[in-house]
Amino acid sequence: AAAPAASSSTPTSEREVAEANALRKALRIHVYGEGVPPPVQSAEQMAARLELRPQLLRAVLSAGYHELTRVQMQAVPTLVARRELLAIAPTGSGKTAAFAIPLLALLGSGKGRGGLRAVVVAPTQELARQTHREILKLGAGSKLNVGVLSKKLAAAAADAAAGGGGLKRYDALVATPLRLVSLLRKGALKLGAVELLVLDEADRLLDGGFLPQIDEVLAACDGERVTRALFSATVPPAVEDLATSTLRRPVRLVVGEKNAATETIAQKLVFCGREDGKLLALKELVRVGIKPPVLIFVQSKERASELYDELAYDGLNVDVIHAERPQAQRDAVVEQFRTGKVWVLIATELMARGMDFKGVSLVVNYDFPTSVSSYVHRIGRTGRAGRAGEAVTFFTEGDVEQLRAIANVMKASGCEVPEWMLKLKPLKKAKRRRLEAQPRARKAIRKRRDELEAGA
Ligand code: ADP
Ligand code: MG
Repeated sequence: AAAPAASSSTPTSEREVAEANALRKALRIHVYGEGVPPPVQSAEQMAARLELRPQLLRAVLSAGYHELTRVQMQAVPTLVARRELLAIAPTGSGKTAAFAIPLLALLGSGKGRGGLRAVVVAPTQELARQTHREILKLGAGSKLNVGVLSKKLAAAAADAAAGGGGLKRYDALVATPLRLVSLLRKGALKLGAVELLVLDEADRLLDGGFLPQIDEVLAACDGERVTRALFSATVPPAVEDLATSTLRRPVRLVVGEKNAATETIAQKLVFCGREDGKLLALKELVRVGIKPPVLIFVQSKERASELYDELAYDGLNVDVIHAERPQAQRDAVVEQFRTGKVWVLIATELMARGMDFKGVSLVVNYDFPTSVSSYVHRIGRTGRAGRAGEAVTFFTEGDVEQLRAIANVMKASGCEVPEWMLKLKPLKKAKRRRLEAQPRARKAIRKRRDELEAGA
């Protein structure tokens, strides 16, 4: 389709500007940038104002999105107007549809066009698959070909490239950075025709680990029409600077408080004394009664396995997911947790970002999160789409030095915290960095085995 009419993208009259500002103010939608398109209030108004195809509106309504979330209200008109965007909105606030709807709108019917025109980058395979599903759901009834860069697809594309071909049949692709770049380097993929590039969990993608890959992707998306959009719940200042200096005439959108937790999550801190106290505290939680599904975070795959042994021995319906398990097993576990066959899922940081499991009632931070953003994303697996949720974070004597930052998040999102926690000494930057890179050493979770050995 042609670029949307100017009337739909920029406020034309003073009255329209005033209305847009009043709506944003009432909903605490903060925007920065010039000529920001006015927000839309509902799916119907969005479709009418942005001239969306009826079939896209139908899919949005069948998904149950009659009311839009705040980030959707502002991000959709912004991206449909092809304005570059940095969007910061809480976990579970519908950021996926906030980029999926404009992606589908910009791609149009998909008839008679060649080449890859939209790419969404996500930090994990699991998240890429979930995002792919959401795009398929909202793209139902269209002729568009939207793919996810699975291992199989990547291998097929690499083979085709070796034979002089490439990955041609997709209009849009969801991918993790490593696979995407590996295909780029093999010449199996060209991004010159990309019109929309979305970096989901942008702060994760732009931090040290993925930065070289993301730089390559940004460089490869060199078409004149490319619009780039960054989404996350947490954006540290350094990433924000990087984003605003990279994007062209960007719109910055902030919904609610920056780097704060979702307000529908009741957050609790539980002091467990020393390492051994944590298993007891967890068993006490289980004994008192937990309502599945429950997600438990630990800091390493070894600890995930250890805790799994403990809980499985107790007859709990539990499974474990971490990067070391084969992808097929990871997919199966995610599916079983989604469908309620697994009640308690023990996970590493791998699951902290973006995963949307319906109705997770409780997140337990068995191991204290190593950064504020880790905390916000982990507990953000509950309390999604306006639902209530609960988060319990265990801490030991050793973790106290990191407590202040988390206590501040809790306070900012309206939870009660003891005054002494807020008065703790802030952690030195170097130490903070070190702990982020390498969580503190902890005594193994091995009560069961030790007991068995002692009894033998
Ligand atoms: P985020 O990326 O902001 O963490 P998601 O995009 O994963 O959030 O969405 C969280 C949940 O909210 C999903 O289950 C999604 O289906 C639901 N959702 C998204 N938009 C709406 C809407 N407009 N109305 C109702 N539910 C929505
Ligand atoms: Mg998300």
